[in-house]
Amino acid sequence: MSTIGFIGLGIMGGPMAANLVKAGHTVIGFDLDAARRDALVAAGGTTAGSVAEATDAEVVITMLPDSPQVEQVVLGPDGVLEHAKPGLLLIDMSTIRPDTSRTVAAEAAKREVRALEAPVSGGEKGAIDAVLSIMVGGAEEDFQAALPVLGALGKTIVRVGGPGAGQTVKAANQLVVGGTYALVAEAIVLLEASGVDPSGGLDVLAGGLAASRILELKRKSMVERQFAPGFRIDLHHKDMGIALAAAREAEVSLPVTALIAQLIAAARAQGYGALDHSALLKVLENASGRTSA
Ligand code: NAD
Repeated sequence: MSTIGFIGLGIMGGPMAANLVKAGHTVIGFDLDAARRDALVAAGGTTAGSVAEATDAEVVITMLPDSPQVEQVVLGPDGVLEHAKPGLLLIDMSTIRPDTSRTVAAEAAKREVRALEAPVSGGEKGAIDAVLSIMVGGAEEDFQAALPVLGALGKTIVRVGGPGAGQTVKAANQLVVGGTYALVAEAIVLLEASGVDPSGGLDVLAGGLAASRILELKRKSMVERQFAPGFRIDLHHKDMGIALAAAREAEVSLPVTALIAQLIAAARAQGYGALDHSALLKVLENASGRTSA
C-alpha cells in the first residue's frame, strides 16, 4: 500500500481518491475548493494545505480540468516537481493536450520523477464504481509500478505507448462519445417530432446494433431532460479542441469530428456550458425549433 497525494478532488477525482482509501492506501488530498477537501475527509482520507504538502508521498495523482491547471500544479512555482523527491511516481489522470503531457514527462525526467499520463473514460459512475477505462502513456516499467494503484480505480487499464499516446487515445475516445451523443439526440428529436414514444424507441435501439454505453446509461435522463453533470459541456468543448489539434498535427482530416466540435461550441454559446454533455440534445432541438424546458 502506498502514500498517495491526490490533487483535484472534483466530480472524478473525489470518488477516485475515496476508492484509493477503500483499497487501503493512505491518501492526502488537495483541492482549491474546501468542500471537495471535506468530502475526502468524510471518505476516510486526509487533506493537505498545499500542493507541496500533497507531494510528500510515494505517488502523486493529478485530476485537474485542463492543460493550464496541470502546468501550474506540476511545473509551476511551488508545484509538484519543485517539491518532488527523486523516484516519485507522478500519474496525471486529467484529459489534456498530448504536447503538455510530453512536456510534463520531459521536465519530470530532469528531476528523476517517473511520469505517466493516464486519462480515463467511464464518467462519474465509472469513477464511483472503480471501473474506469484507463489509457496510459509513458515507460513500461513505470506503468508496471503504477498498476497496483490504477487497479483500484479502473477495470480496463492499457499502456498505449510513450508520453502523449494516452492523451491521443483519449482524444479519439472523446470524438466517438461526442458523435454518439449527437446522434442519440437526433434520434430523440426525430421520434418525438413523429409522435413516437422516445423511451420505447430507444429501448429497442439499445438492444440492437445501435446499442452503446451512452444509450444504456443516458437514454432515460436525456428523454427526461435531466442534464446535471456528469461531464460538463465546457470540458467536452476543451476535448474537441484537443482532438482537432491532434488531427492537425497528424495531418489528417476528421470532418465528422469538426461538425461535432461545432455543435458542442453551439451548446456553450447557447449557455449550456455547465450542463452535462447529453445537453447536446438542447442544441439539436433548438435547430428544429423544438425547444424544451
Ligand atoms: P471538476 O471540475 O469537477 O474537477 C476538477 C477539480 O480540480 C475541481 O474540484 C477544482 O477545484 C480542482 N482544481 C482546479 N485547479 C486546481 C488547482 N490549481 N489546484 C488544486 N485543485 C484545483 O472536473 P472533473 O469532471 O472531475 O474532470 C477532471 C478531469 O477529468 C478533466 O480533465 C476532464 O476532462 C476529465 N474527465 C472527466 C470525466 C467526467 O465524466 N466528469 C470523465 C473522464 C475524464
